[in-house]
Amino acid sequence: MSRPLAIALLLLMLAPPACRPGDRAPAPTPPDRGRLTQVSVINALLLGRYDGVTPARGLLSHGDFGLGTFDHLDGELIVLDGRVYQARGDGVVREVVDDLSTPFAVVTPFEAEGRFPCPEVASLDQLDARLDAVLRPGNAFYAIRVDGTFTSLTLRSVPRQEPPYARLAEVSKRQSVWTHRGVSGTLIGIRCPPWAAGLNVPGYHWHFLSTDRHVGGHVIDCQLGTARVAYQRCRSWLIELGEPAGLDGADLGRDLGGDLERVERSRKADPPGSKGAR
Ligand code: ZN
Repeated sequence: MSRPLAIALLLLMLAPPACRPGDRAPAPTPPDRGRLTQVSVINALLLGRYDGVTPARGLLSHGDFGLGTFDHLDGELIVLDGRVYQARGDGVVREVVDDLSTPFAVVTPFEAEGRFPCPEVASLDQLDARLDAVLRPGNAFYAIRVDGTFTSLTLRSVPRQEPPYARLAEVSKRQSVWTHRGVSGTLIGIRCPPWAAGLNVPGYHWHFLSTDRHVGGHVIDCQLGTARVAYQRCRSWLIELGEPAGLDGADLGRDLGGDLERVERSRKADPPGSKGAR
């Protein structure tokens, strides 16, 4: 045997076996513990970049817990216990099993590093204040899960949009708002520090999914009875920009804090879009 051939054979023997048809696929790499992964940036969404840039179910490879929205702004996105849900503008909540995509979402593999019982709170602002007092979050990112029964819960969702897209502050004037009473379920919260402004939502951003998976949406306000809080500090932050085409021409450096304030907790939906209390 020639020397080069012998060396080639030796290298082949040392090489890991190639996959053959029928071989079991390698297990997917689990997402990094404590890593917050987001698709796009909040300023792009505020400016009306609603075209999906990544598959919504693909988020599950980055985490089992989180929130966001869908292609064409078609409702609120909720990731809970490894499943993706869509809370649409008409109030229908469904598990996403098809190929819907997302223009903005934030997820993490949730693993509670602390828990505490939550005292009754009369508003979402009060819940934020209680969490601030316990977590002292400062410059840190947190994922927070609150399981409990809600005396009152005000949710919103948004109707699907068609291009040319209006800015989110405009669309939110036509949002649907519902108030539910005596519903049990889970608040899915992502807390970002003030310095994340423009990239994500500074402060607490809450979505909700009921225990029976029939009620869900972006949380505007709540009164909470007994509840349990579980939290995880997120020690790394990954931003996936997806296809850059959707961001072309957007002035992402603008201060859109005023727009964000209008869309985050405002219940000032115009009456025709509102479904009222139910
Ligand atoms: Zn939201």
